[in-house]
Amino acid sequence: MSKQSYTAEVTAVTRQSPSLVRVELGGAGLADFRSLGVPDEACVFEFPTPDTPRRHLPEPGRWYSLAEVGPQRMALGIVLHPGGRGSGWAERATVGETLRITEHNSWFKRPDDAAWQILLGDITALPAFARICAESALPTQVVLEVPDPGDEVPIAGGAGAVDVRWVHNADLAASSTLGDLVRELPRPEGPGYVYVAGESKATRTARKFLRDEWRLGNDRFGAIGYWRHAR
Ligand SMILES: Cc1cc2nc3c(=O)[nH]c(=O)nc-3n(C[C@H](O)[C@H](O)[C@H](O)COP(=O)(O)OP(=O)(O)OC[C@H]3O[C@@H](n4cnc5c(N)ncnc54)[C@H](O)[C@@H]3O)c2cc1C
Repeated sequence: MSKQSYTAEVTAVTRQSPSLVRVELGGAGLADFRSLGVPDEACVFEFPTPDTPRRHLPEPGRWYSLAEVGPQRMALGIVLHPGGRGSGWAERATVGETLRITEHNSWFKRPDDAAWQILLGDITALPAFARICAESALPTQVVLEVPDPGDEVPIAGGAGAVDVRWVHNADLAASSTLGDLVRELPRPEGPGYVYVAGESKATRTARKFLRDEWRLGNDRFGAIGYWRHAR
């Protein structure tokens, strides 16, 4: 985990789908930023104050995956949902505003001997999953729960075959189905890796299933809570 801070400038904002806004960042403030080289890497971003776009709110930032990263540039996919500082900012983000990066980490720890991978998540995991697929040479099964059919943003495979199953759940903000979807996964033969990312309670259910039913060791899967349902 790195806690070095950087200031990134918004260079483009695009509506990718009904629920996703793509935000591209760049600028001299990223000159010393280095990718961790792990495709799920994510950073904490602090948002600008509404009236002074180059100053940042003192409240805690939010984690977003780096859908793309390169020298002095990165791209995020921010999910729009009711309420929320990050979501609200993305809806009205404009070129020239700045975000402050305060933390940088990754959780995807696929063993070298993995012959396949399974990625199970909701729309918040789409940016990370798309990058994992693009940077992998393994046969990959992806199951993605999205609120709207229009959120089926194409996922391109790298050198490996990628099979994507889209699951539509208009009620995702209130209730995720990842805990059920994990039970429907076909299990490939041989050593592999399963990565689950999405709503926290649902990822806990998936973790329990993979540990107790599939009997995977801790090095064979990761289940990461990306956000929580409102209580
Ligand atoms: C490692 C990591 C990587 C992540 N990558 C991404 C990413 O690439 N794109 C992305 O959009 N998110 C990503 N997230 C999730 C994101 O950090 C959370 O969804 C965060 O809460 C959004 O902040 P907010 O300010 O919009 O909402 P908050 O102020 O945190 O929450 C406001 C309300 O919205 C609810 N809420 C929060 N997120 C969602 C949601 N997605 N859908 C419905 N309701 C929600 C909360 O329960 C709360 O009631 C990632 C999280 C982690 C830990």
